[in-house]
Amino acid sequence: MAFIKINKANFYHNLNQIALKTGSKEKIAIVLKDNAYGHGLVLMAQLASEFGIKHAVVRKAYEAEQIAALFESILVLGDTIIKHKKYTYTLNSLEDIQKAQKGANVELKIDTGMHRNGIAMDDVEVSLREIKKQGLNLVGLMTHFRSSDVLSSELFWQQKNFEVVKEKVSHAGYKNIRIHSHNSAAILRSKHFSEDLVRVGVAAYGYDELDKTFDAVTLKPVLSLHAKKVSTRLLAKGERIGYGGDYTAYEKMTISTYDLGYGDGWCRGDAEKPFMTSEKLPILGRVSMDFISLASVTEEVCVMNDAQDAAKQLGTISYEVMTALHKDIERIVV
Ligand SMILES: *Cc1c(COP(=O)(O)O)cnc(C)c1O
Repeated sequence: MAFIKINKANFYHNLNQIALKTGSKEKIAIVLKDNAYGHGLVLMAQLASEFGIKHAVVRKAYEAEQIAALFESILVLGDTIIKHKKYTYTLNSLEDIQKAQKGANVELKIDTGMHRNGIAMDDVEVSLREIKKQGLNLVGLMTHFRSSDVLSSELFWQQKNFEVVKEKVSHAGYKNIRIHSHNSAAILRSKHFSEDLVRVGVAAYGYDELDKTFDAVTLKPVLSLHAKKVSTRLLAKGERIGYGGDYTAYEKMTISTYDLGYGDGWCRGDAEKPFMTSEKLPILGRVSMDFISLASVTEEVCVMNDAQDAAKQLGTISYEVMTALHKDIERIVV
């Protein structure tokens, strides 16, 4: 079976770079949604906790359950809101406030311009009233940026909007709640950080999708994808490989089958534009459900050690390449 190597030193390098921006690792909330961006939820939670990270972010409560013992707080981005001593729940809409269980820890998410989730800026006051009426325990105030990775004034007007919201919430008497708005791109580009927490995902895993004009922080990819040899064969000139026979041997050649395919979450791609592995071997012909063919005889090959580079080849983004990797692929820490 194909396997994934998790480079612990690189992960800690990235977390250290982010801690330099936030001023301390206590201010980092590691985003572990979607199987920790394909890296493995429990494994990455353990490594993050060992590093000294105290807070985590997930999508659903069932993810929080698997890692609950490792963190002081876990923010659930969107799920049924219940009372729990360690979990805090995102309020994404006014309906969420009505449906939440009394006594639940909640964080108010305000839509400052992304228009995906969150409560409208005009509804801040009514939200605070309803939170009180429903007997919810407000512990945080948050927003999410839509364009923190591009060089434009977009981020600044959203930040300005958030300032107005913070003012209103503070005015209503909430002085000790945690405030957070930054994702990876926002913290990587920021020069002054004064909030309580950053929600860092992709940067912790080694990538920044920032415009190249920003001062670069060097990050290192954490994940690499490897496949094992299944069999080797000799092809005569003119023989063709795989479904449809899309690749034709132009001379006598030795090829091997390796145990990775789209069933493992690897992108099928386009046989006309062959994917180049990190060892610069083109995938020969079509990707099958469980196999690829390469002109190699080594027992193991590294198919990818940089998801951003792979994404470029495949016409997508690093996030998609990583999160697609099947959770059953073995992850080993190196
Ligand atoms: C996914 C997510 C993040 C992390 O974003 P990155 O760009 O990967 O750092 C932060 N906040 C929210 C609300 C998210 O959904």
